[in-house]
Amino acid sequence: MESSKSLAAWEKSQQLIPGGVNSPVRNFSKVGGHPRFIERGAGSKIYDIDGNAYIDYVASWGPLVLGHAHPSVVEAIRSVALNGTSFGAPTTRETELADIIVNAVPSIEQVRLVNSGTEATMSAIRVARGYTGRDKILKIDSCYHGHVDYLLAKAGSGVATFGLSDSGGVPEDFARNTLTVPFNNPDAVREAIEANPDEIACLILEPIMGNMGIIPPREGYLDQLREITEEHGIVLIFDEVITGFRVAYGGAQSRYNVTPDMTCLGKIIGGGLPVGAYGGKRDIMRCVAPEGDVYQAGTLSGNPLAVTAGITTLKQLAEPGVYEQLEDRAATLADGLAEATQKHGIDAWHSRVGSMLMLYFTSETVTDADGARTADTERFQQYFWGLLERGVYVAPSQFEAGFVSLIHSEEDINNTIQAATQVLANLV
Ligand SMILES: *Cc1c(COP(=O)(O)O)cnc(C)c1O
Repeated sequence: MESSKSLAAWEKSQQLIPGGVNSPVRNFSKVGGHPRFIERGAGSKIYDIDGNAYIDYVASWGPLVLGHAHPSVVEAIRSVALNGTSFGAPTTRETELADIIVNAVPSIEQVRLVNSGTEATMSAIRVARGYTGRDKILKIDSCYHGHVDYLLAKAGSGVATFGLSDSGGVPEDFARNTLTVPFNNPDAVREAIEANPDEIACLILEPIMGNMGIIPPREGYLDQLREITEEHGIVLIFDEVITGFRVAYGGAQSRYNVTPDMTCLGKIIGGGLPVGAYGGKRDIMRCVAPEGDVYQAGTLSGNPLAVTAGITTLKQLAEPGVYEQLEDRAATLADGLAEATQKHGIDAWHSRVGSMLMLYFTSETVTDADGARTADTERFQQYFWGLLERGVYVAPSQFEAGFVSLIHSEEDINNTIQAATQVLANLV
């Protein structure tokens, strides 16, 4: 496969941009080789600058549930741009997007728009701290909430240890108020709360883990978290930046019927442009300035282009049959992959919720981050390159989810299964 233009582009970009990329995983460092530079996308496919076409399952890491360059999204952005790209004053479009979100997501009575998922989680936690007057926060091992300093913390040994930063440049003091416990383990949450009575402002988690592959919650887990946090006056925050409007129109909270106090959104609600949001119960959101004393602001927040792309996307998702189609296509793909790994005797754990899916190369059952870490990343590398050579673009990491979009045709899915079956047959 020709990739000399991408290689040259990468050599140049590395001189000017750290790693040649503006977000680390794009650089293919987890799979070796060089990234493909993308020229354009259309429907289910992306095209690189060497002229190769790929069926795309990255979908810009989740947002593009309608596929690339969806005509109504493109047209909406174009027509809004003709009237100005930003005002720093309110527009009725922001209220329209807020209205759609409030009506869709059970926990959200009021919502504030921001520019990224990172901003959403950072702001939601500030509000939870302001609301409760407490400093400590509880998070789950390997749940990702963006690159907020004190959220780049992982567990040390044992349950509910104080967070140690995972990243350079984060003072230990910043991570000191972050407690970390494993996923799918309500007892660990209880223990952490007992060890820090009346000190924990919030518990933040991805209701379906989507940044360590895909790890669904065990039956009853989210209900238990709801009960425990309510009992202790701890704000329960669902980070639905991936799962919002992805696993159901109302997100994971409507799929599992558990209502948190606050919710963070991003990705899909911007329809491929930068939007994030956080919201929740009215008495909590009242803390946000200018109504309350928790400061949070943004020059480009509620940007007309981004908000319009979001509104147009969410309107398409409100059409009947949309989530059934996503579910069906993704199930066909997951079943095809499972059949292929079985046929060729390859140890694999297949995980899927709605249109999010993951193939872990492991013989273990994956129910938390430790299980996910047993995956054979060298095998994944071979799988990744085999697929890429056959025109299928999956995320360049064993731990990044695959996303099926509405534009993936049955033919795309079948071609993908065929390609994957060939690759799996030749894995060593
Ligand atoms: C992507 C993601 C974020 C961060 O969003 P950005 O827009 O990249 O800042 C936060 N939480 C979850 C669950 C995510 O998947």
